[in-house]
Amino acid sequence: MLDFLGDLKRTHLCGELRAADAGSRVVLMGWVNKRRDLGNLIFLDLRDRSGITQVVVTAEAGAEVHEKAAEVRSEFVLAAMGQVKLRDPGTVNKNLPTGEIEVVADELRLLNDCKPLPFTPADTVLANEEVRLKYRYIDLRRAEMQRNIELRHKVAIAIRDHLNAQGFYEIETPFMTRSTPEGARDYLVPSRVYPGEFYALPQSPQLFKQILMISGFDRYFQIVRCFRDEDLRADRQPEFTQIDLEISFARPGMVFHVVEGFLKAAFATIGFELETPFPQMSYDQAIRLYGIDKPDLRLPALAEVNVAFSRENLQGLGLSSSLPLVAVRIPGVGEISRKERDQLRQLYPARLAEQGIKVLDDERRLEKSFPEAMAKVRELSGAEAGDYVVLVGAGTVTLGDGGEGQKPATGADAGVPYRTGSGSAGNAASGRSRLSMRERQVLEGAGQVRLALAQRFADRHKRFEKKGAANDYRLLWVTGFPMFEWDEAEGRWNAAHHPFTSPHEEDMERLESDPGAVRALAYDVVLNGMELGSGSIRIHRQDIQAKIFKALGMSPEEQQARFGFFLEALQYGTPPHGGIALGLDRIVMILAGAESLREVIPFPKTAKAVDLMVDAPTPVSDRQLKELGIRVTKTGQ
Ligand code: ASP
Repeated sequence: MLDFLGDLKRTHLCGELRAADAGSRVVLMGWVNKRRDLGNLIFLDLRDRSGITQVVVTAEAGAEVHEKAAEVRSEFVLAAMGQVKLRDPGTVNKNLPTGEIEVVADELRLLNDCKPLPFTPADTVLANEEVRLKYRYIDLRRAEMQRNIELRHKVAIAIRDHLNAQGFYEIETPFMTRSTPEGARDYLVPSRVYPGEFYALPQSPQLFKQILMISGFDRYFQIVRCFRDEDLRADRQPEFTQIDLEISFARPGMVFHVVEGFLKAAFATIGFELETPFPQMSYDQAIRLYGIDKPDLRLPALAEVNVAFSRENLQGLGLSSSLPLVAVRIPGVGEISRKERDQLRQLYPARLAEQGIKVLDDERRLEKSFPEAMAKVRELSGAEAGDYVVLVGAGTVTLGDGGEGQKPATGADAGVPYRTGSGSAGNAASGRSRLSMRERQVLEGAGQVRLALAQRFADRHKRFEKKGAANDYRLLWVTGFPMFEWDEAEGRWNAAHHPFTSPHEEDMERLESDPGAVRALAYDVVLNGMELGSGSIRIHRQDIQAKIFKALGMSPEEQQARFGFFLEALQYGTPPHGGIALGLDRIVMILAGAESLREVIPFPKTAKAVDLMVDAPTPVSDRQLKELGIRVTKTGQ
């Protein structure tokens, strides 16, 4: 028999009571996390989002209460009334904040029962993820999920408060709109009123936020859902949440300052004090030092070690002397056996061999043949005893590679000895000419080897373990990305970002003569090798926008068809502006120390873009299709 709530009110939450409350009369409400029936004594662990309190029903409570308690099962919903009592010293539970007390019940109200469960929130072994997602409402009751969702809330509030204090307005933008320029596939919404016509769900509010600048709102932000129908990958969600912002009369430094401020506030929610400002690095520098545009600074940089070897030595090793030879250093690896080394080769991307990039990982053998050179390599890379050093360079024989030949390289590749670098030290890479395609390939190859080894030896170098110190979270800005990417298949330049990104003012005149050398006023904020967000200063002038579209090979008709409304808006007094968007899901995942985005999104989709709880997507009725003027042709699979 279930009871009604009536006008019964809670006095406390289940996680609140302490020794000082002993003697008070309380009313608790919650779920039965666990029940232990010892006959005369029944223990009910009552749980709500704040925690758990042990409720005991003794024989003195009377037959009626006792019978009720005997009926109760896991996840029944209960109100318990009684007196707080200090537990006997021997039965204090140190693992529970309420562990010093218990509530001796004199009345229970059974507010609801619960079917036998597929798993319970109290289970210590996790159910498999499909079951968890199907019964998400039960899964979300688990303490860990409650904590993650609470953290998500706190992070969002901290960011909102910060941005509000900085003069940002939170402004909503439509979900039913037209295609936005982020380069993924759109999710479409059919119009009933205009059969055959569709809205698109926004891949981002990009154009709306720019229009808000045109409208004079000066500083906009939104914690907003974005929809992108991209190829499925383990850690990607078709809908995800961005912290999106835009600033009028912006310089990159202003955007950096705002983002650093709200990230500091977000990290403060887990008690971590982030150091600001974050270091900055140009794209070229990042590639030279880390072989990737989102460097993980927790491990040492690459070191160019061409100077260590004579030309003859390099020839002997079958290595090109006109391209970088790079040392990858992983600290604290210690001795590795030959067998271990052979296994490492499985970890290097197969593409390296196809690109004619060599990985020399037998340090001992190299030391035997080239003792002086290898001593120099260790010196240049800053290696200490126990550090493992691997060399990555371009083979002299280039097997039909995917990098050269297809596009004019900006630097010379052949013949000349490679400019010698001064290793991993700080700014060695700045002020050099831009990287050629082939140089980039070698450096990126080294970057991939670095990451593969870093993962493999994580238990030895221990740099990925959180120690409550500054190295736990290494943030930086990467700037000066190339404006265009060469599309081999199409034989043309593509915008590396969305096409409203402004070129660097200094590079403007190279737009037509040397597109590959044009830098974008774009920036990424990177954390521990992950891109947290990306943004840019925008094009605010119609003449420059037209040039960019031309450089991208977009005809005036196509421009008009895709972005006509926006191109027109640009002509009505657009202020210079810029902004950025950061992934909220990822930030919360990192702060929660979770392994997957699905652990911090209340109702996520699977890696196959399915919502297992509501069972979506689903077919719809013929009537609905007819109303929308849609006929489905099944493509047999
Ligand atoms: N709209 C961009 C994105 O979603 C971010 C930006 O440029 O502000 O990636």
